[in-house]
Amino acid sequence: MLTFGPLMAERDYYDILGVARNASDDEIKKAFRRLAMKYHPDRNPGDKAAEERFKAVKEAYEVLSDPQKRAAYDQFGRAGVAGAGAGGFGGGGGPNFSDIFGDVFEEIFGMGGGRGGGARVRRGADLQYNLEITLEEAVRGTEVKIRVPRLDRCEHCGGAGAEPGSRPQTCPTCNGLGRVRLQQGFFSIQQTCPRCQGQGRIIADPCRRCGGTGRTRQHHTLAVRIPAGVDNGDRIRLAGEGEAGENNGPPGDLYVQIRVKPHPLFTRDGADLHCTVPISIGVAALGGEVEVPTLAGRLTLKIPPETQSGKTFRIRGKGVRPVRGGPPGDLLCTVQVETPVNLNEEQKALLRRFEESLKTNGRDHTPRQGGWLESVKKFFEDMRF
Ligand SMILES: [Zn+2]
Ligand SMILES: [Zn+2]
Repeated sequence: MLTFGPLMAERDYYDILGVARNASDDEIKKAFRRLAMKYHPDRNPGDKAAEERFKAVKEAYEVLSDPQKRAAYDQFGRAGVAGAGAGGFGGGGGPNFSDIFGDVFEEIFGMGGGRGGGARVRRGADLQYNLEITLEEAVRGTEVKIRVPRLDRCEHCGGAGAEPGSRPQTCPTCNGLGRVRLQQGFFSIQQTCPRCQGQGRIIADPCRRCGGTGRTRQHHTLAVRIPAGVDNGDRIRLAGEGEAGENNGPPGDLYVQIRVKPHPLFTRDGADLHCTVPISIGVAALGGEVEVPTLAGRLTLKIPPETQSGKTFRIRGKGVRPVRGGPPGDLLCTVQVETPVNLNEEQKALLRRFEESLKTNGRDHTPRQGGWLESVKKFFEDMRF
C-alpha cells in the first residue's frame, strides 16, 4: 500500500499536480480540478491515502495558483512559501482558496458552475406556448407544427460570445471567479467582480452576430405531438426546447399550454361529454327515436314515452378516454322539449282542441303543473296575501 503523508509533503508541488514547471495558470487550474475531484473525501469515504493526497493537492495549488507564491517557490522551494504548509490557506492576495474550491464543488455536484474560461453558466429560461385546438383534436390527439421565437445558441461563435478566431480572456481582476474579495477591517466580503460583471471573462472582440451574448433570437418550427385525451389547461413539456442558457448553459424547457376551443355541440367535464338534444312534443309524449351525435359518429337514442324536458340520458363509454389512462367517460344527452313555432291555422286549431281535451281528466295529463299549482297556493297562504 502506498503511503502519503510526510513523504508526500516533501514532493515537488509541480509533481503533485502532475504539471510541467512552465505550466500555464490554466493548466494548473485544470490539473487541480481533476485531482481535487478524484481525491475528494466525499468521493473516497474512509480512504486515508486519498485524504492525504487531497490535502497535498490543495497545498500545491494554493501556492502555484498565486503568482507571487509561485515565484517564491520556484526560487527558494518550500522555504520561500513557509506558512503555506498543510492547513495554511487563505494568505492575502491571489485567488481565495475557498472560492475556487466552491466552484469545484459546484462542478462535482452539478450545481451549474460549469466552466468556460470561468464564465458564469446559467440555465436558459423556460418558455410557454399557448396552443388552441379543437375538441376533436383534443380527444383523438394530433400533431401540430408550432413556430417558436426563442434565444438560441449563436451559431457564429458557438455560444462563446467571442468572434471566431478570438477567445474570451479570463478576467485578470478576479482570475475568472466573477467575484472579488474585499478586506474591511476584520471582515472580508465578496462582491461581484466590477470588471467582468461576474462573468469571469472579458470578451475583447465580441461576436458580430450576437454582440457577445452568445445567443441570438431565432424562429424554430417544432412538431408537437398532442396525445389523445388532453384537456383544457393541460401542459405538455418539451425538455430542452426553451431558451439557450447563458455562456453555453443548458437550455430551458418549452411548455405547450393547451386551450380547447368551445364546441358547438359538446361541453366536456373530465372524461364525460355533455350535449343538449331538442325533441318535439310528440316524441316527448309518445316516445320515439332521435339521432344524437357522438365524437365517433351518429347514434340512435331511444326516448321513452312521457319524457320530460331536462331529462338526461347517459350513453356509456361514448365520452373521452382520459390522457392519463383509464376507461372512457360517458356521453350525457339532456333532452329539451321544443315548443312548436310557425304554426298554421289548422295546427293551431288542433292544438286548441287538444288543450281542451286535457281538461277533461283534471290534472292527470300535467302532473307537474298540478304539483306546481299546489305549491303556489300554499306559498300565498303562508305569506297571508
Ligand atoms: Zn455569437
Ligand atoms: Zn472579473
